[in-house]
Amino acid sequence: VKRLDDSRLGFFDAAMSFAVTERLTLERSIKAALKAEQFELFFQPQVRLIDFRLVGAEALIRWRHPELGIITPDKFIPVAEETGLIVPMGTWVLQSACRQLRHWDDLGLTGLRMGVNISGRQFREQDLADLVAEAIAETGVNPAQLDLELTESMLMADGEATLKILRALARLGVTLSIDDFGTGYSSLAYLKRFPVNTVKIDRTFVSDLDQDKDGRAIANAIISLAHSLGMKTIAEGVETEAQAAMLASHGCNEIQGYLIERPLPAAEFTAFVARYGAN
Ligand code: C2E
Ligand code: CA
Ligand code: CA
Ligand code: CA
Repeated sequence: VKRLDDSRLGFFDAAMSFAVTERLTLERSIKAALKAEQFELFFQPQVRLIDFRLVGAEALIRWRHPELGIITPDKFIPVAEETGLIVPMGTWVLQSACRQLRHWDDLGLTGLRMGVNISGRQFREQDLADLVAEAIAETGVNPAQLDLELTESMLMADGEATLKILRALARLGVTLSIDDFGTGYSSLAYLKRFPVNTVKIDRTFVSDLDQDKDGRAIANAIISLAHSLGMKTIAEGVETEAQAAMLASHGCNEIQGYLIERPLPAAEFTAFVARYGAN
């Protein structure tokens, strides 16, 4: 029995050091990829539910790896978060998103809103308002067209400090959304306290919409709550006409999901707009 335990220990040791090595390798590759500009933003359209008019896009990061092709964020964001690389990466995301917004305006795709994901570490460790102000100044975009997506856990962390950052951001004229709403702490008190404009209904609730009554009740409750607090709602991960119809019947403002289009590379997004019809 003792020998079995020993060998098991050895196995776990090896597995663990493999995981550590792999993580270190990934960390180094991410660093190199940032330098080599292998990261790229894709854009997923967001449309208004009453008339399906295009209102904006969410910027979603991809790693265009020279050998492996397109790598999605679930493969590298967790390590980037752990190692702090998410901070320089987030700065790059913010600047690129603003540059793209500027480019759309120059192309005549005026008035589109750009949603940018902000990570918890960016929020805590950086002067986010300064960074956002810089990106706006450098690109000359209209701050009202920039929407920062924050998560519930970020907002719950430290009441006063959080409020200060959010107010500084709001003063810049950007709008704020709560991403993945309903999956985190779901303390509703903070919704009232913070200057948040939009609630993004997580796709887990959207996929439950056509499954059962409970799913519908939850989505309906989130929409009513947001509206009663003067906020807009956007549903994520809408894949079917039935889901869109149900969301519309509950008064949801906007949708985003494969029903409209997947996240697209910049050039394809422009082609999508030409096909779909801009404003
Ligand atoms: P998220 O912010 O909740 O983004 C929505 C995710 O849902 C995206 O995954 C999108 O491709 C996917 N999606 C959109 N429509 C549908 C649909 O109809 N059905 C299904 N099943 N999925 C849909 P993606 O692009 O892989 O991003 C995953 C997560 O990575 C994001 O979740 C976000 O938390 C994070 N992320 C992406 N880009 C950035 C970034 O630039 N910065 C930071 N900090 N995080 C990012
Ligand atoms: Ca998001
Ligand atoms: Ca989300
Ligand atoms: Ca998510």
